[in-house]
Amino acid sequence: AKEAGRGTYAFFEETLNERAQARRRVENDLRIAIEQGQFELHYQPLFDLDKHRIGSFEALMRWNHPTRGQISPTDFIPVAEDTGLIVRIGAWALHEACRQAKSWPEHVRVAVNVSPIQLQRPGLAETILQALASSGLEPQRLEIEITESVFLAGTEATMKLLHSLRAIGVRIALDDFGTGYSSLSYLQSFPFDKLKIDRSFIQNLLVRPGAVAVVRAITDLAGALGMETTAEGVEEDSQLAELRSQGCSSVQGFLFARPMPARKVAELLAQKGE
Ligand code: C2E
Ligand code: CA
Ligand code: CA
Ligand code: CA
Repeated sequence: AKEAGRGTYAFFEETLNERAQARRRVENDLRIAIEQGQFELHYQPLFDLDKHRIGSFEALMRWNHPTRGQISPTDFIPVAEDTGLIVRIGAWALHEACRQAKSWPEHVRVAVNVSPIQLQRPGLAETILQALASSGLEPQRLEIEITESVFLAGTEATMKLLHSLRAIGVRIALDDFGTGYSSLSYLQSFPFDKLKIDRSFIQNLLVRPGAVAVVRAITDLAGALGMETTAEGVEEDSQLAELRSQGCSSVQGFLFARPMPARKVAELLAQKGE
């Protein structure tokens, strides 16, 4: 047993070392990617159930690596966050999303994911103002998506920042709602424009007993607080029907469209007559 224990330990040590090396490789590659402009934004539509049209697109980052092909954000965003590189990559995303959204019809907004690291560091408000100014995009057409984790650490500075962004007209959505920090107190202290109900609830909607009640509670709560709701990860007609009956404001998922490159957005809007 002792032998096996040592062997197991050595094995873990090796894989930890390998993981550290892999991380360093990703970090180096990320620095090059920033310099060489290897990032691209794809866009996924959010369908407004009341107005029966596309209300916005969420910008989702893609990394076109010269040898490893397209890398998923779930593989590189955590490294970018740990190293602080997310601040520069995120600033690029804000500029690029505003610039591209400027060419869309006026009623179509763009939603950009903002990391908790970006919110913690000074300069986010300036970056957003610059992105709006240089693109000419109206602030009302920009929505930022933040996660509940921003409320774990020192909420006061975050609250001030979010209030100042909202004062200039930028919309704020709370992403992956229901999966993070479980206190609901921040819903009273901050007027979000939208709650995005996490995909895990939608996946289980017609499977797990109680899921319908949970999603209904979220849509009712949002409604009572004057917030919109978006259901994430809608893949099936049956889910859509349930969400519609619950009065969910908008839906997003593979049932409607997968994230697409910017040139496809124009085609999709033209095809829908928007
Ligand atoms: P998220 O913000 O929750 O984005 C939604 C994710 O769900 C996207 O994955 C999207 O492609 C995927 N998705 C949408 N509809 C469906 C569906 O019907 N079924 C399934 N299975 N998946 C669906 P993606 O593009 O791989 O992004 C993953 C995560 O990476 C995002 O989750 C977000 O947390 C992060 N991310 C992406 N772009 C950015 C960015 O520009 N900045 C930051 N900070 N994070 C980003
Ligand atoms: Ca998001
Ligand atoms: Ca989400
Ligand atoms: Ca998510």
